[in-house]
Amino acid sequence: MKFLSEYRDPELVREYIREIGKITTRDWAIMEVCGGQTHSLVKNGILGLLPPQIRMIHGPGCPVCVTPLHLIDHAIHLAEKERAILCSFGDMLRVPGSEKSLLQAKAEGADVRILYSPLEAVSLAKENPTRQVVFFAVGFETTAPANGLSVVHAAELGLSNYSILTSHVLVPPAMEAVLDDEEASIQGFLAAGHVCTVMGTAEYGPIAAKYKVPIVVTGFEPVDLLQGILMTVRQLEEGRYEVENQYSRVVRPEGNPGARKVLERVFEVKDRDWRGLGTIPMSGYELREEYAAFDAKRKFEAPEGKAEESSLCMAGQVLKGIIKPQECPQFGKACTPSNPLGAPMVSSEGACAAYYHFYHVMEETK
Ligand code: SF4
Repeated sequence: MKFLSEYRDPELVREYIREIGKITTRDWAIMEVCGGQTHSLVKNGILGLLPPQIRMIHGPGCPVCVTPLHLIDHAIHLAEKERAILCSFGDMLRVPGSEKSLLQAKAEGADVRILYSPLEAVSLAKENPTRQVVFFAVGFETTAPANGLSVVHAAELGLSNYSILTSHVLVPPAMEAVLDDEEASIQGFLAAGHVCTVMGTAEYGPIAAKYKVPIVVTGFEPVDLLQGILMTVRQLEEGRYEVENQYSRVVRPEGNPGARKVLERVFEVKDRDWRGLGTIPMSGYELREEYAAFDAKRKFEAPEGKAEESSLCMAGQVLKGIIKPQECPQFGKACTPSNPLGAPMVSSEGACAAYYHFYHVMEETK
């Protein structure tokens, strides 16, 4: 398959590993921002093949993992108390809220449905005019355009029974938050290729300059990741801190102008709570005032009471790269994918789940 098999070529992988080893003269800590990149690094055994001086830190780029507890509780409340048809991508269903998950609410009779596109939720609203339909709009800049478009579409259809519960987070403010954290020690970034496909690369220049960190926009296949690591290490070794684009077969500097136009029309940037990281200023999208009628947060009351995180879960430290998943005392014991204590053990993009599923690969490639 074009653009897939050649990016999994074992000989190329070996060449990149050799090249990284050749130019590395000291310890470097590099964060891959996206959970998809973490998953690929772990699944393909790349962590065990890198020189010991290269420490990969797994960033907060798993949207399911950083969706705050109170929003999961809010989604469950809408399905149970407001009797709404609550629609979501599949991964969100198993994420534990403060008392239960959406999947448990579904098992207890709530109308919770897994969809593959928010436009399906708009169709559901059209077909069920007497029911409220809410789409749980979770994700980074990548999923936001389609969710925004669903609101535009619902407005054009004159639907009064469709709304979205937004939990959209933005990558650049999260990168700044982890760089500002005194406990974290990141020296370079692999930026998330798919986010840049939408947003372009312009937002990263000021971050690279302010914090003196190289940022390499990187894809998701083994060769992509190794090329991205090589480009980052080369900059670090040469004392450069620039924005470079490894994923140029997909990412244009200006991103996707059509998608960005939808984002600007429908959303405004606001402060956002991140699970495990706290509130990050200006790091999320909320619907603009003109689309308030489609905003589930304004349309329905939030549940009472304060959502409390499990005191045992160390997700915040995992998401900032301060500890590796297996260093959490609950990893693989009280916390497993079938009984997750925290969100990073739920999503296929979560660092804890990736380590749990592919621990044998990491051991074999050590
Ligand atoms: S292993 Fe489980 S409890 Fe520990 S940080 Fe990960 S999700 Fe939280």
